[in-house]
Amino acid sequence: MLTLRAHHLLCLPRFRGRGYSEEFTANMAAVAKSLSENPRQLVRITDGPDDICDFCPHLNNRQCVNARNVKKRDRQVLAFLGLQAGESREYAFLQQRLHALKGAAFQKCCADCGWLDLCLSFAEA
Ligand code: SF4
Ligand code: SF4
Repeated sequence: MLTLRAHHLLCLPRFRGRGYSEEFTANMAAVAKSLSENPRQLVRITDGPDDICDFCPHLNNRQCVNARNVKKRDRQVLAFLGLQAGESREYAFLQQRLHALKGAAFQKCCADCGWLDLCLSFAEA
């Protein structure tokens, strides 16, 4: 079963092949492909390092270098979903619920992310 930090549920549908390193991007593409091929698979939701962070150059000693901001974002997404870290749900169910997290609410949640403009441009495209 894949483990995903909550805010990565927002990043995955907006992934367009860009990332922090070649290794990171290849892994992110593999995770996105698996979820798109089998959206009914269960994923475990966390507010800590996950199967995407594992390939990120910003993970240091099992901690994101930007831990404070990304954890805050994870908690916002968990609260929106009404879930606790450690719970599992079908990926498609989670994405269906997150359709409603858009516009100002999405921008507030992702406000401190360097990819925000890019993610917003995909939404507008
Ligand atoms: S920046 Fe942090 S939260 Fe994002 S993938 Fe890298 S380690 Fe994980
Ligand atoms: S703005 Fe950042 S955190 Fe939000 S979906 Fe895009 S990449 Fe993920």
